[in-house]
Amino acid sequence: MEEMNNNFIYDLIDKDLAEHPDMKVHTRFPPEPNGYLHIGHCKALCVDFGTAKKYGGLCNLRMDDTNPAKEDTEYVDAIKEDIHWLGFDWDDRFFYGSDYFDIDYELAEDLIKRGLAYVCELSAEEFRDPKYCGDLTHPAVSPCRSRSPEESLDLFRRMKAGEFPEGKYTLRAKIDLESGNFCMRDPVIYRIKYVEHHRQGTKWCIFPMYDFAHPIQDALEHVTHSLCSLEYEIHRPLYNWVRDNVNIPGNTTGFPRQIEFARLNITYTVLSKRFLRGLVEGGVVDGWDDPRMPTLCGLRRRGYTAASILDFIGRTGVAKSDSLVDIRQLEACLRDELNQKAPRRIAIEKPIKVVVDNYPEGKTEYFEVSNNPSDEAAGTRKLPFTRELYIDESDFAEVPPPKFFRMKPDGEVRLMGAYIVKCERIEKNADGSIKEIHCTADLETGNGMPADGRKVKGTIHWLSADYAKDVTLHLYNNLTTLENPSDKPDDKDYTDFINPESLIVVKGAKIEPALADAAPGDKFQFVRFGYFCKDTKNENTFNRIVPLKDSFGK
Ligand code: ATP
Ligand code: MG
Repeated sequence: MEEMNNNFIYDLIDKDLAEHPDMKVHTRFPPEPNGYLHIGHCKALCVDFGTAKKYGGLCNLRMDDTNPAKEDTEYVDAIKEDIHWLGFDWDDRFFYGSDYFDIDYELAEDLIKRGLAYVCELSAEEFRDPKYCGDLTHPAVSPCRSRSPEESLDLFRRMKAGEFPEGKYTLRAKIDLESGNFCMRDPVIYRIKYVEHHRQGTKWCIFPMYDFAHPIQDALEHVTHSLCSLEYEIHRPLYNWVRDNVNIPGNTTGFPRQIEFARLNITYTVLSKRFLRGLVEGGVVDGWDDPRMPTLCGLRRRGYTAASILDFIGRTGVAKSDSLVDIRQLEACLRDELNQKAPRRIAIEKPIKVVVDNYPEGKTEYFEVSNNPSDEAAGTRKLPFTRELYIDESDFAEVPPPKFFRMKPDGEVRLMGAYIVKCERIEKNADGSIKEIHCTADLETGNGMPADGRKVKGTIHWLSADYAKDVTLHLYNNLTTLENPSDKPDDKDYTDFINPESLIVVKGAKIEPALADAAPGDKFQFVRFGYFCKDTKNENTFNRIVPLKDSFGK
């Protein structure tokens, strides 16, 4: 994987390295295994793994499973698979936050003994009540703050032993009730929760809070730089307090150090695992890998390559303030890559029959066409030509608008790589729809220029009706209709903004015979149409990854 471009994180690390030349830069990626990774996580992956790579350092993968709710080994396996797909590797440094529960507990007891933490009996509601949490002009009030270490220790041990109901007691760090930063007003660091943990079973009924557990995990793993998204900025003083006040074995002064960067936000894309999980559980989409999902497995199934996603992340850069990236930038990265690499093939979305009246019945001849005009090494293939053909409905106009150079009554058009044909008459069904179009071909000039020098402006693609195969096409559009997801009104849900046209299923489309053998995951440019990928789940189905051209302005 490419490193990220120079950015402020590198500047900060360079400074640290100037003071500590022997330091080995060490980062971590800490996903919560409560859903599949999405393209926003890819940004964090590029920052975490990319930074380690740039400095010849290490990056750990750590499942942040401290919070026992809704975690599952299915997610753990999927997370690993997706990270490997992007090309990142954690080697043997794979950890679970829950593996540190024993030491977290010991360190908490030690804090109590040193008078730096106490057991509190405010309920969750009271804790949030201004009477107790204070406000900008009033300090917090904590009635149990002066509880003796002995008493707190006894209560804490009994919390662990399961003597109390949920919510009865919490453990709070004794920091600063007057702090302007509410995170520092004696934050809760342990709470009681009777929930089975996906790895620890029922061993624990008290769980450390993220703000307590995370710096301890980082320090124990010798992480030097804990890179995270901007919403943790306000927690940084607490991160530092834990690092500097908890007796973490082997800890060095001033490290690990938390550095925050802006999250990736993309137009028409909701990057929230909670929302995405709701779509899966509610059956709105066909699983986490539905090709409309911004999950890495969804993008992969749609046909996005790892390279195009990494290219996109690289282009968006690493910033210190939030911004919104246009989804068309992601599409452009895919086009850039597949324009070079993808073989050209022909598919016809809405076939109409064309009969070449002056072409012999039963005859097949083959025209050689390029597999990729921008890559000569891709070679050519032979397309069968017969008397009966298909063209796309959009390439014919009975009443043509001005400057319509495709097929029209009495007009001539080039069949791509083959003859020039002239539309002679239209045969209609009883309901007025077109049954077939009758043409004559200029059989003298083959696929060359007309001998008399006349100009034929339009070129359209075609398939032999005798050889073309039926196929289903899935045409995708944005999953939501909200350009900026953060504009969602509070009284609405993201599901109110699902795009009813996010998937258009086209049955009875036609493809050239060679495509019938395409393997799931194979990618093509369907000429004059879009980039497509053979679906890995539905048989005989191609997913449109992106249209050929940017829809901007349309
Ligand atoms: P979600 O809101 O989707 O549940 P999360 O932050 O809770 O996201 P985690 O699994 O905790 O998900 O995320 C792991 C890492 O990925 C964190 O460091 C988090 O900051 C980062 N991350 C998540 N979403 C984005 C994003 N959109 N852009 C950049 N980093 C992100
Ligand atoms: Mg999180």
